[in-house]
Amino acid sequence: MLIRPESGWPQQVRDWKIVNSESFRNLDDLLEYCEIDRSGSVSTDGVEFTTRVTRYFASLIEKGNPLDPLLLQVLPTVQELQHVDGYSRDAVGDRQSMPVPGLIHKYHGRVLLTLTGACPIHCRYCFRRHFAYGEAGVDYGSDGPVMRYLSGHEEVNEVILSGGDPLMLSDQKLAKLIAKLNCIPHIRLLRIHSRALSVLPERITKVFIDTIKQFAGRVVFVTHINHPNEISAHNRAAFHRLSQQGHGLFNQTVLLKRVNNSAQTLAELSNRLIESHIVPYYLHCLDKVEGAAHFDLSRKEACGIYRELRSRLPGYLLPLMVEEIPGRLSKTPVICR
Ligand code: SF4
Repeated sequence: MLIRPESGWPQQVRDWKIVNSESFRNLDDLLEYCEIDRSGSVSTDGVEFTTRVTRYFASLIEKGNPLDPLLLQVLPTVQELQHVDGYSRDAVGDRQSMPVPGLIHKYHGRVLLTLTGACPIHCRYCFRRHFAYGEAGVDYGSDGPVMRYLSGHEEVNEVILSGGDPLMLSDQKLAKLIAKLNCIPHIRLLRIHSRALSVLPERITKVFIDTIKQFAGRVVFVTHINHPNEISAHNRAAFHRLSQQGHGLFNQTVLLKRVNNSAQTLAELSNRLIESHIVPYYLHCLDKVEGAAHFDLSRKEACGIYRELRSRLPGYLLPLMVEEIPGRLSKTPVICR
């Protein structure tokens, strides 16, 4: 069934900063809300990466279901402490590709800014869960090293705002950054990678949209949604507000064991995304980050799922399955024959 998007601006919107501050930050509170008992492997003992889940995301978790695919994305377990060969703290080689603090330059024509370490949700498989954000702060409002680097690299025409989650920055800070980028004529594309778009839709305010409009070039958004249950009328309304402004919306999904490792789930996700004005873009194989090995699938399993997905979907709904190999000049498509 085609979902009819909501129109207009909601009459009453709560301040996103207050909504964000009400997130679950304590495992017991989250489990109590989800009506789930602490089982043997669920634990925060010794786990550095803290628990954080927005109330909205938690509301989509099925009560009493310890295997809920949304819950499993945010539930800390003792498996995160296991050392597994081949999994490292810098799984994608970000640190070797940072010519100035906060700016990652790996690929031709585009750079990524790690604007903040803050996120509205802590995804247990996150490839930046060990990232040294303290050493990578961006002085985004000044003519500091990031702006000097961008000015001096005319081959770079796209800036990707990332983090953490760039939408954890205030609109004032984003406006300052945009004003600086507007002074560099060869920066014509602004890409915003954010999980707040789907897990904290209150963030998409009129002020935010007006702030983004100040960018002189084109703006595209990349959402991060892994399961069809993450889409509801609440965040669909936010996606619709962005698409009404003419911004492109794309989604990347991480292939995760016990969360979305079935062609049926991924096909349903692609359909829900397109109904929400979002193009399914990448299906990422898990970055081999320390603490996340229990989410990984063998290449054989991943290809089996992808082949079935390809047989179920028209080409425009099929995300490209990719992996990130440190040192390569682009994401690498995974070839499944
Ligand atoms: S929102 Fe993104 S950066 Fe933040 S924890 Fe999740 S995957 Fe990592």
